Amino acid sequence: MHLRFACQPGCTKCCNVKGFVYITENDLQRMALYTGLSAKAFEKKYVVRFKQLLRLRKPRKSQCHFLLEGGCSVHEVKPVQCRLYPFWPELVEERLHWETERINCPGIGKGELIQIGEACEMASEMKSACPV
Ligand code: SF4
Ligand code: SF4
Repeated sequence: MHLRFACQPGCTKCCNVKGFVYITENDLQRMALYTGLSAKAFEKKYVVRFKQLLRLRKPRKSQCHFLLEGGCSVHEVKPVQCRLYPFWPELVEERLHWETERINCPGIGKGELIQIGEACEMASEMKSACPV
């Protein structure tokens, strides 16, 4: 079994889907450094912390503070949840969910074949980084 995926140039569709971006402590540190803020200042400005869960705050009129016209302004250090999309466990583990996700991601079904083992490895990285 294999999947086909290639992120489409200029596309930012997944950043506009309603939902939350959960981040890891490591994501927070890297994004803070990249944006020139201390971890504490970054958290205060951009993060909601609830018990063990951290997620990015959402601006009023869009889904993410870091989504600019040219795309993700923190692309180099974007959270693991964003980096691994669409290889999320719930999509990789169910063929139907993977196919249905084409609605949100025009890259699904395009590009080179990706072996299911490789896709599962990415999905398990996602599971251990963001167990929500
Ligand atoms: S952090 Fe970047 S990739 Fe993730 S949702 Fe925001 S703009 Fe999109
Ligand atoms: S929706 Fe899919 S193709 Fe578009 S930016 Fe996100 S991962 Fe890439």
